[in-house]
Amino acid sequence: MFPAAVLYPSNVNDIIDLIKFSYDLSVPFHVAARGHGHSIRGQAMAHNGVIVEMNSLNNNNDNDNNNNNNENCGIRVSWDSELGFYADVGGEQLWIDVLRTTLEYGLAPISWTDYLYLTVGGTLSNAGISGQTFRHGPQITNVHEMDVITGKGDFVTCSKDMNSELFFAVLGGLGQFGIITRARIVLDKAPTRVKWVRLLYDDFSKFTKDQEHLISIDGLDYVEGSLMLEQSSLNNWRSSFFPPSNQTKIASLLSQNKIMYCLEMVKYYDDHTTSTIDEELKKLVKGLNYLAGFMFKKDATFVEFLNRVRSGELELQSKGMWAVPHPWLNLFVPKSSIMDFNVAVFVDIILRQNKATGPILVYPTYRKKPLLRINLISGSSTIPPPHLTIEEHDSFEDESLDAHPMDSEDHSMELEDLIFSEEAREECGLGSQTNHTFSEGTNF
Ligand SMILES: Cc1cc2nc3c(=O)[nH]c(=O)nc-3n(C[C@H](O)[C@H](O)[C@H](O)COP(=O)(O)OP(=O)(O)OC[C@H]3O[C@@H](n4cnc5c(N)ncnc54)[C@H](O)[C@@H]3O)c2cc1C
Repeated sequence: MFPAAVLYPSNVNDIIDLIKFSYDLSVPFHVAARGHGHSIRGQAMAHNGVIVEMNSLNNNNDNDNNNNNNENCGIRVSWDSELGFYADVGGEQLWIDVLRTTLEYGLAPISWTDYLYLTVGGTLSNAGISGQTFRHGPQITNVHEMDVITGKGDFVTCSKDMNSELFFAVLGGLGQFGIITRARIVLDKAPTRVKWVRLLYDDFSKFTKDQEHLISIDGLDYVEGSLMLEQSSLNNWRSSFFPPSNQTKIASLLSQNKIMYCLEMVKYYDDHTTSTIDEELKKLVKGLNYLAGFMFKKDATFVEFLNRVRSGELELQSKGMWAVPHPWLNLFVPKSSIMDFNVAVFVDIILRQNKATGPILVYPTYRKKPLLRINLISGSSTIPPPHLTIEEHDSFEDESLDAHPMDSEDHSMELEDLIFSEEAREECGLGSQTNHTFSEGTNF
């Protein structure tokens, strides 16, 4: 699969001109925005079409607040009485840069992905899910407004109150409804440090009950969890959290149980709460059913915690392994099925059939609180087609909107209130090299 051309836009008008040119042809060509290119199945690819390399907008940022399409948005922090603090961010911006810039003002976005070297346009086209989702919703629910170039080449500002169908179609729209050139992101006061805790379990039921309990109480800022398997090396990015002095103890427990579960939770704090944080943490873990003696704590800066995957990435890069394809799968499992899922998938397939795996994360979130809407693109499989195609039929303005009911409650996938996001990334056929790709170096 190859594009016919790549556009390196200097400004938003270059993208508008490209799409208008395509739209006016009797047979329009495919156009795909490429953020950081991390999506699977070539979603940021346009076979025989034109890829818009969004990163190129970065070379022409306007941080002086001029509002015209010849200058790009960059990252601009503002405040108003209605919205509070927010950042206007170019779709091409990496979340790590959004973090760095907003921290200069003592602020930060509230909903994250596990890995920050992803673009704002790329994750807003998906969902942006991590351990903060139970509390703040995915990243797509923390956007006030966006500038979008539609399939006809129109430049449209949209929000929940203005061009709302476009707004909700583009958020989580897999790049099928337009190109995001600016997103107005919710900001809040940033903490400076975090208490980061991992608790080990040998019983899936106790593990999930504790996770559900922790997201039901008001106190934590992040809850995730992961599988620990005897067949996966302990010497990997996740286990590096555990103090070396405890690695033997954990390895021996793992060899006894073969499969274990690790609950991960984080509480943010700052100078004002330094004196009370330990007491608060103690209260939060009180009554949890983890294995006695298997609680591990870390104190880290807010940035160290949010940017935790970076060290694994650099390690893989140094081994030349980062660029190999790393397929992954995200599943939302209704609460009613999560116990069966553990037995059928984690135990009967992965453990019993001795499958090599990458990291498998398991954590709960709510469907409604805050709203996590899963949109289905009518007429396509849940995995979108490999091409992002902006053509007439994909344009927001034409009748095809009814065929892509991204904002229709009626077409949203109905899940039970509590759902578990399970992420299973697999190594992919690297033969003898597989044992030091994902499981040893990568983090999600
Ligand atoms: C190591 C790693 C860890 C990850 N962890 C998480 C995680 O914790 N949570 C999570 O939710 N996801 C996670 N992801 C998945 C990630 O959110 C998606 O792969 C996302 O698409 C990556 O963004 P990108 O900038 O690479 O986008 P790309 O892969 O370049 O693009 C993704 C899609 O968005 C479209 N697109 C890109 N930019 C724009 C734009 N400006 N306007 C409109 N459409 C656009 C593309 O055409 C494509 O369809 C992870 C991915 C990796 C590689």
